[in-house]
Amino acid sequence: MPYDPPGSVPASEALFARAKAVTPGGVNSPVRAFNAVGGTPRFIRSAQGAWLTDVDGNEYVDLICSWGPMLLGHAHPEVLAAVQAAVTRGTSYGTPTQPEVELAEEIVRRTPVEEVRFVSSGTEATMSAIRLARGFTGRDVVVKFAGCYHGHVDALLASAGSGLATFAVPGTPGVPASSTELTLVLPYNDRDAVAKAFAEYGDRIACLITEAAPGNMGVVPPEPGFNAFLAQTCRDHGALFVSDEVMTGFRASKQGHWGLDGKVEGWVPDLVTFGKVMGGGFPAAAFGGRAEIMRRLSPEGPVYQAGTLSGNPIATTAGLTTLRLATDEVYAHVDAAASTVKRAAAEALTAAGVPHVVQSAGTMFSIFLSDTPVRCFDDARRTDEKAYAAFFHSMLDQGVYLPPSAYEAWFLSSAHDERAIDTILAALPAAARAAAASTGSTTEGRR
Ligand code: PLP
Repeated sequence: MPYDPPGSVPASEALFARAKAVTPGGVNSPVRAFNAVGGTPRFIRSAQGAWLTDVDGNEYVDLICSWGPMLLGHAHPEVLAAVQAAVTRGTSYGTPTQPEVELAEEIVRRTPVEEVRFVSSGTEATMSAIRLARGFTGRDVVVKFAGCYHGHVDALLASAGSGLATFAVPGTPGVPASSTELTLVLPYNDRDAVAKAFAEYGDRIACLITEAAPGNMGVVPPEPGFNAFLAQTCRDHGALFVSDEVMTGFRASKQGHWGLDGKVEGWVPDLVTFGKVMGGGFPAAAFGGRAEIMRRLSPEGPVYQAGTLSGNPIATTAGLTTLRLATDEVYAHVDAAASTVKRAAAEALTAAGVPHVVQSAGTMFSIFLSDTPVRCFDDARRTDEKAYAAFFHSMLDQGVYLPPSAYEAWFLSSAHDERAIDTILAALPAAARAAAASTGSTTEGRR
């Protein structure tokens, strides 16, 4: 709906002022607020294909893609048609429906999971997977990695304790110490730390949860064999290996990160969480795994888990249609587009003399303004946030909407065509020069 602000104030600014009066920070999820880069977030009125249009009528090539879900681009005609048809039949019944069965079958066909349960957000998926792992093993301790984000689950909003293999402390006010005192937070890609933690607490560890390829400290791929090592370590100690594919699932490749290197490395997770792409832009997520584990869930087993809107027919219809349209050609297109953008960004930054590192996991990538490869969260924090803010604003001014944080992946879609890619390429040199003019401030990471 067009919004006409009073006088000559840009509509985004006027809406942001109104939003701040009624919503903390003016946003419903923190990174949207532009706090890390400064300025006013653009309020988006509509989106089509690779393009966003804001309430002032400005157009941007979208490199956020709703933080991952929009693999096919915005308003894909077949997804819209399926959703529109579904809506005319009612929007939620609180009973089982056919689309949720078909989406579950599609996920089981394409991934290592044997059974799947739907929820409404990635946070719910990881929270439920951990509860199930604890219920299945009869153990309490959870291991996670610093810099991996699994949603705002209390036990996972945790910071490392005072030493390696000591229990975690709350990562935010509001999380009681009792919620993180059974969480171990380890440095990513660090086999010694994992071995030490399992040597000390192995018989108490219910599960280790990891992003299959972290994308929430920027993209930090697992070193070759790391996921296989984690899976084996868990197996050796009777703990479950939970692979969080909320971001990577059906995005990094046709399956997820498991699909990228699973066959090579031979690792299979016990439980997997999904979200984003499998919801087709609607609030849907899932967790799944071996039938033996999943059957411990209520009502078949004793571990309680439920949701009023879980498996919602509109969301599952959007997800199912999206997954059916996510063909090899779609991934090949996203891969090629990502390669072009990565190469051009690296060339522009090199030409401007800005230190940078490009890191990828399948079709996902990010560009760190840093001079050393990033293999863990401590490395990621060396990124030059001030330079990134300058880079971001130059791109925005030239019609490209990048993630408003230096610690996020850049997302492309099958709708990023030549016009969209050309717009990005044309904007990069000036943005790189803007970054060069602002280099020099490395601050603490966002979390
Ligand atoms: N897990 C991962 C790997 C994520 O990237 C996210 C969100 O970005 C989540 C879990 C939480 O998902 P949601 O935001 O849907 O709660």
